Amino acid sequence: MSEAGKPARTVRCPTCQGPSVWSAENPYKPFCSERCRLIDLGAWANEEYRVPVAENDTLDENGLPDSKD
Ligand SMILES: [Zn+2]
Repeated sequence: MSEAGKPARTVRCPTCQGPSVWSAENPYKPFCSERCRLIDLGAWANEEYRVPVAENDTLDENGLPDSKD
């Protein structure tokens, strides 16, 4: 374990384009922070993956069609 003085590896944060530390200490990688990660996920959910709301009432509580045998 002699990593003293070794510069942290960084990547570019996809959200803010700023430096993001790429290490086990950064659980949000490749993002620089939780905020940037949530922003990216939110944008994806809102703009890229619109799910129509409706038509789930034919499924039972297990999410399966009504064939209980
Ligand atoms: Zn960022």
